[in-house]
Amino acid sequence: VVRVSDLHKSFGEREVLRGIDLEVQAGEVVCVIGPSGSGKSTLLRCVNLLEQPTSGRIELLGAEVTDPDVDIDRVRTHVGMVFQQFNLFSHKSVLENCTMAQRTVLRRSRAEADRVALANLERVGLADRAHAMPAQLSGGQQQRVAIARALSMDPQLMLFDEPTSALDPELVGDVLGVMRDLADAGMTMLVVTHEMAFAREVGDRVVFMDDGTVVETGPADEVIGAPREERTRTFLQRVL
Ligand code: ATP
Ligand code: MG
Repeated sequence: VVRVSDLHKSFGEREVLRGIDLEVQAGEVVCVIGPSGSGKSTLLRCVNLLEQPTSGRIELLGAEVTDPDVDIDRVRTHVGMVFQQFNLFSHKSVLENCTMAQRTVLRRSRAEADRVALANLERVGLADRAHAMPAQLSGGQQQRVAIARALSMDPQLMLFDEPTSALDPELVGDVLGVMRDLADAGMTMLVVTHEMAFAREVGDRVVFMDDGTVVETGPADEVIGAPREERTRTFLQRVL
């Protein structure tokens, strides 16, 4: 579903990604962990070309998106993205937030878009808040709306960038619970997270990044439970 080969990204003089290789297979949950500034968000943003890579190759859903001729908007239609900031439209209701892209991009009828949106709001436990405005919801609820909105586009891949790091601690569990359910349902997911328990339990594989490189990758239990590399151990000692 995703294959990144020898990806480099520089901002001016500063090389932030220095030759990243990464694969995500269908149905797999891959968690990316690592210290602040190691390039995790930049990697995720490169995958769907929100950042233009400096060099390297990225295949996304069968398309080589680093090929300048590719229609990236078409490919992105099938990729759900959830960020730290929920980016809901504040002047639109929860339901409208979940139907707008379905109607404009997928050209679904209002009835069909409403049906899909309500099913996904149900899935994240918020069907009863469909007519609320985002500001009336907690941060955790808003993030679950953002997930429902992404799911309403029937994505083949979900990208998450620290979806719980802006939330009050008591709201984190509900969002992780929704993500866990998604993983259990077989969704292909690439998740940047600092929630080590989540990465270990839900991740099939964990990728540890430091300073723009992949230091270690492997089964979640091994990388987090019994890391091979000294740098991974040092990082985990600090965060666990
Ligand atoms: P965090 O855990 O804090 O989110 P991260 O691993 O996601 O960190 P990135 O956001 O990918 O790290 O940033 C990696 C490096 O790239 C940082 O040094 C950052 O300052 C730099 N960087 C990111 N985006 C830009 C940009 N648009 N222009 C210049 N430098 C950038
Ligand atoms: Mg980041």
